[in-house]
Amino acid sequence: MKNESRVIHQPRIDLPAGNEPLIGPVYRSVKFTFPSIGDAMTIEARRQGFDYARDSNPTTRQLECLCAELQGRDDAICVSTGMAAAWLALLGNLKAGDRVVFFVECYRPIRTMLRERLPQFGITHTMVSLHDHVAIEKALALDDTKLLIFEAPTNPMLQIPDFEAILAMAKANEVVTVLDNTFGGLHNHGRYDIDFLIHSLTKYASGHGDVMGGVVIADGQKIAALKPWAINMGATLDAGVAYMILRGLRTYYLRYARHSDSALKVASFLQGHARVERVFYPGLEDDPGYALAKRQMDNCGGVLSFDLGCKREQCWAFVDALELFATVASIGSTESLVAPVRLYFGQDLSGAEALQAGITDGTVRLSVGLEDPDDLIADLEQAFIKTFG
Ligand SMILES: *Cc1c(COP(=O)(O)O)cnc(C)c1O
Repeated sequence: MKNESRVIHQPRIDLPAGNEPLIGPVYRSVKFTFPSIGDAMTIEARRQGFDYARDSNPTTRQLECLCAELQGRDDAICVSTGMAAAWLALLGNLKAGDRVVFFVECYRPIRTMLRERLPQFGITHTMVSLHDHVAIEKALALDDTKLLIFEAPTNPMLQIPDFEAILAMAKANEVVTVLDNTFGGLHNHGRYDIDFLIHSLTKYASGHGDVMGGVVIADGQKIAALKPWAINMGATLDAGVAYMILRGLRTYYLRYARHSDSALKVASFLQGHARVERVFYPGLEDDPGYALAKRQMDNCGGVLSFDLGCKREQCWAFVDALELFATVASIGSTESLVAPVRLYFGQDLSGAEALQAGITDGTVRLSVGLEDPDDLIADLEQAFIKTFG
């Protein structure tokens, strides 16, 4: 074989029997083959074999199996972003004429999907507050209601839904439940009877802010029904990225615990500060979500919000004055991040809706990173002095 051919038909490195790498290999291959068509058509090959990476890839499969296991389910489908996971879970479960119930407190792109994109395909919605159980019950009881999508804690205001109450209402009305568990993380909420758990793997799972990914996790039959949608949609997660996420997950528990501990320290500091009107963090004992979070979660994560009770200009000046917190609309990185909430997550909300969601012009969201929390508190302190004197 000429070298020109050899670079295409590369040498294979097979390991001797029993000689195992400690870290699984990254299968960069898009295509997988069998010695004969007959071999490819066996039941085992069709069930467990690999063919084309848009369908499946062993490295991506490794991540799917891990995510499913962490949430106590049989199966999962990895996709290229968290939003692709949300789209997959919704498109695979809805048809024209169906209604989706969701909460005003939710992540902005989910609201955009439900209010601006899906109506074009005949899918309607009802938006209520997650604290208004009477309105939730009414919306779930509508004949055309098919699906409920919710978050815990919510992005950006860290509200805690009452799982038992909300899931009981959904079950009674035979409504499919989808939990966007990005903030809760892969170790929380798996024990609840939720149909689909979705995550942005861009956040805590990968953890280092250098790759994007998403996952839909559910029981085997539900995933089997979604799989043809995923293959056809083509929002495939690249194997190299899956490897990066698998690598990130090795430190997931350490990171999430440290994010949570530091966020509690920062939240306590803010709560005691004269310039702060209100802190939103369910790990704080006097937060309205504390009792529910304590019952439902192991720990609350690294994101918190607070209200400066000031005008937009002062809020932006405060955000700009921070030095260790980068101004970014994301969470779950090693670095600490800050975002002006109304501007980044609430511009689509009317005045009344923003009020309902607890968002004002003075609301700031922090994603507490892995720095020493004393450094973060010192940075916040200097920003208070610089902005408010
Ligand atoms: C970031 C985020 C998403 C979307 O994830 P991407 O990977 O950015 O597409 C969905 N839900 C929540 C709660 C998020 O924070």
